[in-house]
Amino acid sequence: MDVEEFRTRGKEMVDYVCQYMANIENQRVHPDVETGYLRKLLPTEAPQDPEDWDNIMSDVDNKIMPGITHWQHPRFHAYFPSGNSFPSILGDMLADAIGCIGFSWAASPACTELETIVMDWFGKAIGLPSAFITCSEGSKGGGVIQTSASECVLVSMLAARNQAIKYLKTENPHVDTEDSAYLPKLVGYCSKEAHSCVEKAAKILLVKLRILDPDENGALRGSTLREEMEKDKAKGLFPFFVSSILGSTASCAFDNLEEIGPVCKEQKRCWLHVDAAYAGNAFICPELKYLMAGMDYADSFNTNPNKWLLVNFDCSCLWVRDRIRLTHALVVDPLYLQHANSDEAIDYRHWGIPLSRRFRSLKLWFVLRKYGLNGLRAYIRNHINLAKFFESLVREDIRFEVVNDVKLGLVCFRMLASDNANQKLLAIINASGRLHMTPSVVRNKYIIRFCVNSEHARKEDILIAWDIIKEYAAHSMASPTK
Ligand code: PLP
Repeated sequence: MDVEEFRTRGKEMVDYVCQYMANIENQRVHPDVETGYLRKLLPTEAPQDPEDWDNIMSDVDNKIMPGITHWQHPRFHAYFPSGNSFPSILGDMLADAIGCIGFSWAASPACTELETIVMDWFGKAIGLPSAFITCSEGSKGGGVIQTSASECVLVSMLAARNQAIKYLKTENPHVDTEDSAYLPKLVGYCSKEAHSCVEKAAKILLVKLRILDPDENGALRGSTLREEMEKDKAKGLFPFFVSSILGSTASCAFDNLEEIGPVCKEQKRCWLHVDAAYAGNAFICPELKYLMAGMDYADSFNTNPNKWLLVNFDCSCLWVRDRIRLTHALVVDPLYLQHANSDEAIDYRHWGIPLSRRFRSLKLWFVLRKYGLNGLRAYIRNHINLAKFFESLVREDIRFEVVNDVKLGLVCFRMLASDNANQKLLAIINASGRLHMTPSVVRNKYIIRFCVNSEHARKEDILIAWDIIKEYAAHSMASPTK
């Protein structure tokens, strides 16, 4: 493809995207295809010779699109939002065109420096303690963009593991042993509301993890944590890491950081990570900052603008209080990656697992500038207001109950019927292709999660969704039970 063909096809692609967005509402939200449908439609080998662009695009229309779940559909209320906006798409397009691989400052200075600057902008807008902001006086911390929240949790746990082993080695100078000999002593903690990525990180890092019961509001409490740590210490174990959750996946519950923080500080070396993958974005609103009370105790914090800040995947932001404690666990420095400015510059390859890194800060910068913080606050507030509106509709109907404390954009609800009946209700709604939601379990009950996702969600969308839910519920309910 030469530049002239790219110019033409690029403009056509923008038209295609505009058309896709304009007509998305007319599609089924979830596709009606069987497993393996695509293998039947595509050749078994890659083509030997170049193909015509129009044929490729025709296959997009006829073969790919029928198997797409439309996450940007106004009736897509599953999971959490998948960030998406035109400024972000354009920022990513430019990053793809520049095509730099920003593993070190020298590999592309603007790529590294913009990342540090936008992470400072965003961190300040959230209201993180100044220790997390690279440019604040005396700060040893800073921010980095990772691919996913799972990766943020993994590298935080890795840094914590490294810090704990270093401490245990200095405490036992007479014992000459491998680092791995200390692994059986290390124990981390999270609540049942924490995302499964914490469990996965513990699996990868070969450490024990205690998954603790939260209170009746889904919050991990300091007393529960202290009790478990004491039991573990009595067994000769070493509490090294706590992953707390602000805005859980199942029900958007919040751990009690103000209680957990001091418990971590009572330990010898216990890293406190705060996973706010979805909810953290909302802290740019002054009235929601109370939800992050206790952040002063944290060693690291993550939130995903690619969930709830209109930035396309991937863009998962991690801040640490002390960047040396993170990089110490990750530095390897072959000659072919060194450069003349290594001493004073940030090299993000030491802040995460991959060497190669995309220019992800560009799309975040575009979004922060094009919407401004006020525009982004308006977007978040609209979602919260609509969630509260949906909550009020559910509460007015005696056949249903709301099972979470609706603070942000997620409402967890259920029919007043058995788990089985709720499961069936969700299955028929999703199979209809008219609305898409996902389930979870809250306080041992099967519940349906309704998340406000679409950028331009309106009250009318919520009313349409509620009408669809009621229509299918009416079929499946024999009679009201309340
Ligand atoms: N943490 C929380 C609170 C989440 O809700 C999720 C996913 O929804 C994750 C972590 C994992 O996110 P990622 O897909 O970015 O790894």
